[in-house]
Amino acid sequence: MNGAAIETWFGLTDFRSALESDWAATLSSLGIQWEYEPCLLVLPSGERYLPDFWLPEIGTWIEVKGNGIPRVEKARELATVVVCKCRERCACQWFGGEIVLIGHPALRTAGMRFGALYWDDARYSAVLAQCGHCESFSWLRLRQSFRCRKCRVLDPQRLRMYGPGELEFRHSDRVTAHQVADEYAMWITAEQVAETRRKRENGEVA
Ligand SMILES: [Zn+2]
Ligand SMILES: [Zn+2]
Repeated sequence: MNGAAIETWFGLTDFRSALESDWAATLSSLGIQWEYEPCLLVLPSGERYLPDFWLPEIGTWIEVKGNGIPRVEKARELATVVVCKCRERCACQWFGGEIVLIGHPALRTAGMRFGALYWDDARYSAVLAQCGHCESFSWLRLRQSFRCRKCRVLDPQRLRMYGPGELEFRHSDRVTAHQVADEYAMWITAEQVAETRRKRENGEVA
């Protein structure tokens, strides 16, 4: 394991807690792009709220909460604003609107050395699904749409679905250099895709 590579990757971001850093490592291991503390929001109540993570490709917010007394009121209030009851055919960028999750510490589970990924949805319940078409992971609310939130393909038969406690949680200091290199390569690819799309929209390429 190459400590320097890990520090470079996760060291790009200063996390407030080890749990947040571990959530970032776990999201990266699943190939999910994340932004840490992307913006300060003003909620309808007038409260200011700085969510921990925004997942720009799949329209999902995550508020990471450690053990003890969880303060999730702001995340729940955000959910009342960004969640939509739509299933299909709506102006929402993602069906069901944006998802707000509470990210918990790993759940102790037999057979998983560092425990399992554990979350709950601030408003309804969400499962983590891997798309059979693009292989991407996204959280879905099953009563709303089975459509992959990343590639938008609807292929329920090929979806693999996981509930809380079913996938391995990662620790940021235990992600191997090999995994980091793979993720870095994947991110570059994602950026290139975005750049190509932007150029196409601007008419710069055919
Ligand atoms: Zn909608
Ligand atoms: Zn997909």
